[in-house]
Amino acid sequence: MYKEPIFLKPVFKDRIWGGTKLRQEFGYDIPTETTGECWGISAHSHGPSVVENGPLKGKTLDQVWDEHRELFADQDGEDFPLLVKILDAKTDLSVQVHPDDSYAREVEGEAFGKTECWYVIDCEPDAELVYGHHASSKLQFEQMVAENRWDELLRKVAIKPGDFVYVPNGTIHAIGAGTMILETQQSSDVTYRVYDYDRRDDEGNTRELHIEKSIEVAMIPHEDANFEPVLSGNDDLRIKKLVKESYFTVYHWNLSGAVAEVKNPSYLLVSVLDGEGELKVDEGAGTSSSFKKGDHFIVPSTVKSFGMKGDARFIVSHPTL
Ligand code: ZN
Repeated sequence: MYKEPIFLKPVFKDRIWGGTKLRQEFGYDIPTETTGECWGISAHSHGPSVVENGPLKGKTLDQVWDEHRELFADQDGEDFPLLVKILDAKTDLSVQVHPDDSYAREVEGEAFGKTECWYVIDCEPDAELVYGHHASSKLQFEQMVAENRWDELLRKVAIKPGDFVYVPNGTIHAIGAGTMILETQQSSDVTYRVYDYDRRDDEGNTRELHIEKSIEVAMIPHEDANFEPVLSGNDDLRIKKLVKESYFTVYHWNLSGAVAEVKNPSYLLVSVLDGEGELKVDEGAGTSSSFKKGDHFIVPSTVKSFGMKGDARFIVSHPTL
């Protein structure tokens, strides 16, 4: 039986707002000087990751999901549920909102809506996000959009490295310039753009806006969703549960030493933010895999527990089953 971590080769996306930090910070071989997104763990048709090691080498994650559901706790569903990305926003992202599952299915024919969350890897000293808005009714929201009263409408929130932001579907949001985040989200690529700062590309064109759909799916009035982090583990592996909601559970792990037995609740999506180390599976033939900053891998559900040693920081997630 398959008893080792599945390492994945990231997929990169050129974006109008992207930069070169994915190369500078993580050493990735990015394709352009405006690379905005690294899709680290993806089975989405717009950019599936490819397995880099073991007997599944060369297969895409959606193929592995289709052919080897035993690696994913025999979870139901046609599509792999989550997507993990690192974003480098050199300039502001457009102000946007995502639909819920039923709207995404009915209106866009997509499998999932998009609830997402962000771990702030790095940002400028005075960095801000757009998170929510100040309109109290749909009518007021529409009026403020029609009259271009963006400063009054959009709610700005200050951030610093290490912050965590939960963004349920319907939340008006935007990542600001100079911010690098790791995003854990439902596996969806449906985005409705509300405002793009009136930017133009090299040919002088603006990007399409989706005002009507945005107002249909937006949470009005805005309500904050906050979670108190839950701490566990010990000095060798300090675990901070950042959020547990209906689609995903996300943790920050800080490894500094050796742990003999980390339990796998289902299957784990692991991204190494910093440092390096080794993951050891004692079951079956036993395997030992080294990992380093910038690696993305899945610990399949066939591995019930594993050992780890090293000095590293991670964002780890699993679907909430
Ligand atoms: Zn978003």
